[in-house]
Amino acid sequence: MEKVKAKKHLGQHFLKDESIAKDIADTLNLKGYQDVLEIGPGMGVLTKYLLDKPINTYVIEIDTESVAYLDENYPKLHGKIISKDFLKYNINEVFDGKQFAIIGNFPYNISTQIVFRALELRNQIPEFAGMFQKEVAERICEKKGTKAYGILSVLAQAFYDAEYLFTVSEHVFDPPPKVKSGVLRLRRKENFTLPCSEKLFFTVVKTGFQQRRKTLRNSLKTLNLSDNLREDSIFDLRPEQLSVEDFIELTKKIEADGV
Ligand code: SAH
Repeated sequence: MEKVKAKKHLGQHFLKDESIAKDIADTLNLKGYQDVLEIGPGMGVLTKYLLDKPINTYVIEIDTESVAYLDENYPKLHGKIISKDFLKYNINEVFDGKQFAIIGNFPYNISTQIVFRALELRNQIPEFAGMFQKEVAERICEKKGTKAYGILSVLAQAFYDAEYLFTVSEHVFDPPPKVKSGVLRLRRKENFTLPCSEKLFFTVVKTGFQQRRKTLRNSLKTLNLSDNLREDSIFDLRPEQLSVEDFIELTKKIEADGV
């Protein structure tokens, strides 16, 4: 069968380097789950290393031409190819509430949306690993006080320990993307339930960073805080000065204020 020709609008940049594919597959520690879901397998360069592991590999791929290629070339995948859009598909039609890991050389045009979707599914995802454009991978793993530290960093690190693992050159892809890539791994924290309203935590983090150069006193105005609470010195800070723990403390204070 003919190889699939890359389609730009689907973020297709096929990895050519087998050793990097193997290194990415090897980032999974395989603990706490029996199933792994690869998002955007393309022609299966990463998939074939997953299929060697003592785990059930499922793939979800939006491109029907890639799906046909996978179906023909990887008999072990039969019955485990989901021909859908990861962002729109209800993955529990396959996993039915079970724990599963996510991996991929992800489509970069939707990378942050993939992370947000995975965060929504955090109760079922003990491990999340793979490749993004370098800047996004770094942003997810960044600590407070840096320019890149933002919504993605705080929300991901509230529930996961994030590690930036290695950088990948643009030259090992066909066609080469414009940017370098970075591989990361997120391992869910043992206790990943926050000691505050998680819904309010998401709102506080997102609202705070929407105007990242303002103090929280200004940016969180829309939350209708009491005058008393607004005097708290935490509101003198800008969002990038708060660690994940600080955001949790802030959320607790706002919760106690009765928003
Ligand atoms: N993993 C392969 C392909 C990477 S390119 C490799 O390393 O070579 C990204 C892949 O994601 C493409 O195959 C593209 O078709 C697929 N893709 C893009 N958007 C998707 C979506 N919303 N859901 C599932 N797959 C998607």
